[in-house]
Amino acid sequence: MFEPPTRELVWQDLAACREFSVESFYPPTDQDGDEAKAICFTCSVREQCLEFALAAGERFGIWGGMTPQERRYLIARRRRAAQFPGESEEETTLTMT
Ligand code: SF4
Repeated sequence: MFEPPTRELVWQDLAACREFSVESFYPPTDQDGDEAKAICFTCSVREQCLEFALAAGERFGIWGGMTPQERRYLIARRRRAAQFPGESEEETTLTMT
C-alpha cells in the first residue's frame, strides 16, 4: 500500500496569509500595509513568523504584523534592553501596532 511521504508540520503550514495574495504582504509603502497587518493579527503563528523574520534579517514585507521599519525599531529596543537591563519598560516582544 502506498503511503504518502510525511513531514513535520511547520509554522508556515498554519500561516493565515496562505489564503491571501502575497502582494498584500509586500505593499508599496509601510503605510499601505494595514490589510496585511490585520490578517497577521488573527494569525496563530504570528510570534514564530516575527522571530523568523528578525533572525533572517528580512528587509521587506509585513512579517508577524510588523513593517520593516517596525521590525528595525523592535531590534533596536531589544539591543538597548540587552545593554541596559531594567532601564526601560518598553515592550521587546510582540506589540500590537
Ligand atoms: S503573522 Fe502574518 S505574515 Fe506571518 S505567517 Fe501569520 S499572516 Fe503570514
